[in-house]
Amino acid sequence: MSFDYDLFVIGGGSGGVRAARVAAADWGAKVGLAEESRMGGTCVIRGCVPKKLMVFASGFPSIFEDARSYGWAVDQAGFDWMAFRNRLEAELDRLEGAYRDTLKTAGVTIHDARATLVDAHRVRLASGEEFSARHILIATGGQPFVPDFPGAELAVTSNDMFHLDALPKRALVVGGGYIASEFACILNGLGVEVCQFYRGAQILRGFDDEARGHVATAMQADGILIHTGTDVMRLEKTHGGIRVVATDGTEREFDLVMYATGRRPNTQGLGLEALGVGIGRQGQIAVDRFSQTAVPSVFAVGDVTGRINLTPVAIREGHAFADTVFGGKPTAFDHELVASAVFTQPEMGSVGMTEEAARDQEPIEVYATAFRPMRTAFAGRPDRVMMKLIVSQTTRKVLGCHIVAPEAGEMIQLAAIAIRMGATKEDFDRTCAVHPTMSEELVTMRKPTRSA
Ligand code: NDP
Repeated sequence: MSFDYDLFVIGGGSGGVRAARVAAADWGAKVGLAEESRMGGTCVIRGCVPKKLMVFASGFPSIFEDARSYGWAVDQAGFDWMAFRNRLEAELDRLEGAYRDTLKTAGVTIHDARATLVDAHRVRLASGEEFSARHILIATGGQPFVPDFPGAELAVTSNDMFHLDALPKRALVVGGGYIASEFACILNGLGVEVCQFYRGAQILRGFDDEARGHVATAMQADGILIHTGTDVMRLEKTHGGIRVVATDGTEREFDLVMYATGRRPNTQGLGLEALGVGIGRQGQIAVDRFSQTAVPSVFAVGDVTGRINLTPVAIREGHAFADTVFGGKPTAFDHELVASAVFTQPEMGSVGMTEEAARDQEPIEVYATAFRPMRTAFAGRPDRVMMKLIVSQTTRKVLGCHIVAPEAGEMIQLAAIAIRMGATKEDFDRTCAVHPTMSEELVTMRKPTRSA
């Protein structure tokens, strides 16, 4: 049977673009890709990239402040949101163009339209055009989820944060995960008065308790009002803004309410259920370790599968799919020991097990230190950084590493290599320090802080 395409990819985000490019350029497949929005997906257009640029923008006030302590005369000029936003938009246009060029160079045919599945080998575009394909890859990502409550329509999500016409004076951020905590810090750094509501006892659930406590303390010291055990009951439009009535009795007015209460996979209306593709409770596509669904010709990668919702994971899943299906090299991406960083201020980098999970599994030693780093201590700031290693008492392997510090994301990337290679605490000890740095503490912690 002949098909229009060897592969049709639905979704031009990190996972879909990588799979399309590798299948076409490395393995010679005839590939079509449909994207209903802008090429690049969440990461490039409304996620990691614009977020990180906002993180950079929000870091300048403390840099200006420290500069004075280092002898510089600095007139702290105000922040021009529109000047930043225009540059940000230009950068995203450039990146989108680069993604399109990459696909074109690889020989992938781009369809700027929404696509849905007709059957196991056919897709239909919004234009009505239909194409057959030997294999179909769903890489449609996810979207912000806002719970249903009175006034929910007054809330914005991370999608809207890059298009604001002006920065608010007072903002409420709801949620305690990556996105809520990052945006609370971004807005705070940009001079917005920030309040964060989280329904649980401590933000950043799932991360190491000590590390998340350290981040929360630093955020509060920076002026963010974190209300834990608190949720929104209702939002009401007022003359001056949005009135928030909360479960802890708080009634306050804000100019902006941003919800970051998780994301949901984009599976609705694709025609998946009718085909027999398994869909989980949150709407995620069920796949095996090779990203294959219950329908043999249909695969799925990235956030739409709800495995680990991180860009580099989607990229690896997409690459592994292309190598498996078109390269004759069965490859399953290993979801163990994926490092990640939360770009709060200070950043938090983590890889491997939390202390809590590790001590439930086996006897461990914990090596932890918190100290004032040289750069900010000199400037008279009280900021403290934290380094922590979780070590197996039996194998001596480092099971987890957690860093809360400026540039923790950069540090954890390198620690992750050692930990993935199975480094023991003694391997860390044998490694000579790089002095004077913050991360040298990772190889100089001699005595366990505690055993469990
Ligand atoms: P998360 O799952 O990280 O956090 C969702 C937060 O919202 C949690 O604090 C959760 O509370 C809370 N919540 C969920 N439902 C409700 C509700 N109905 N009412 C009130 N609160 C609620 O999601 P995010 O949206 O922050 O991020 C989505 C994913 O994107 C992340 O999991 C991550 O994988 C990825 N991401 C990664 C980044 C990075 O690598 N730096 C940056 C941004 C996103 P509870 O803890 O009680 O469940």
